[in-house]
Amino acid sequence: MANGVYEMMRGLWQTFRSAWTKPVTIQYPEVKRQVSKRYRGRHALKRYANGLEKCIGCSLCAAACPADAIFVEASEQTDENRYSPGERYASTYEINYLRCIFCGLCEDACPTEAIVLEDNYELSFETRESAIYTKDMLLDAVSAPNQPTPRKVKPGSFNRSVPEMKDPVD
Ligand code: SF4
Ligand code: SF4
Repeated sequence: MANGVYEMMRGLWQTFRSAWTKPVTIQYPEVKRQVSKRYRGRHALKRYANGLEKCIGCSLCAAACPADAIFVEASEQTDENRYSPGERYASTYEINYLRCIFCGLCEDACPTEAIVLEDNYELSFETRESAIYTKDMLLDAVSAPNQPTPRKVKPGSFNRSVPEMKDPVD
């Protein structure tokens, strides 16, 4: 009997104590939780500052993916119709989010830092087909005043597929 009363008082004390602490729940989706700097969420295909696509369709990300979640198809391009620097660009780029385990190996393998796992954790789908994200869904929007890709550029302006890059800092 005494033990039961003690346990009840302990439970009431916990309830009373919690009533004065800051709630851990947040009002999602109006309020979004801040994720850590190294969080691996939905991928994004990045662009250079000039608006050209960083992806050159080399498929190294697909080769590195342990879940076989990435499909890339590369095509030739010309200065009349340019998507990215270099000879080729990704004409098809797809990620199957039913397979992806968010390991980040694709990001590590990419020679141009084109594919990046960002902080977007809002991934939901109702069918198998809608779990496959296409290039249009993954590619960053072009920022003003840049023109969208493909675009016509001065002949010979872009002849290097992989830019010189610094070592990562963290
Ligand atoms: S995060 Fe990992 S599993 Fe997902 S696409 Fe990249 S390499 Fe594949
Ligand atoms: S995302 Fe990177 S590794 Fe993958 S195809 Fe494009 S350039 Fe190559």
